Amino acid sequence: MTLQNEDVFFGGNSPFIDIAPSPQWGFEKKLKAHIGESSWSVIRDHIKNRVGGCCEFCQASPGGGGLFKQKASPFKIDFRFQRDTPAGTDILRRIIYICEPCRNTIHLRQTDINSEKLSPEFSPFRVAIDRLCVFHRRTPQQIIDEYKTLLQTAKEREDKISEINFETYIVENGLNRLWK
Ligand SMILES: [Zn+2]
Repeated sequence: MTLQNEDVFFGGNSPFIDIAPSPQWGFEKKLKAHIGESSWSVIRDHIKNRVGGCCEFCQASPGGGGLFKQKASPFKIDFRFQRDTPAGTDILRRIIYICEPCRNTIHLRQTDINSEKLSPEFSPFRVAIDRLCVFHRRTPQQIIDEYKTLLQTAKEREDKISEINFETYIVENGLNRLWK
């Protein structure tokens, strides 16, 4: 079962670095406030159950296992957008259920900021880089170079616009169907 018009294959089934524009930070909170707590929990359960409660990327279950043989909890809901369309709108295309270390690979900018004051051995940023190397068979330097390029592009976009329009059609229409 999918939400209406959701593309459950959008972006494939491995993480890629997605530098969320700053107006989009805290999107889950904003969405929850917009549709209401109970509607959000219907969506959340739906997303979790359709993947059997395992991380969509590394396949770890709450008990561990998966690609990295690590305990995966806590699990997070995350969002994939088709960014910066000709209309200037970011369109929500897919909702995913993933473990926290995999989520840290996507939101590498926040992971980087959150790791600033931590020593390298406890750095979620370092773990995220290592994970991306495994997923994409690349070297840490290649991943860091890619991150820097993406960060530059995202900052240039943020400088141009103060606000980003979001299209969350799949949630609103999906909800109508799920409630029926
Ligand atoms: Zn994972």
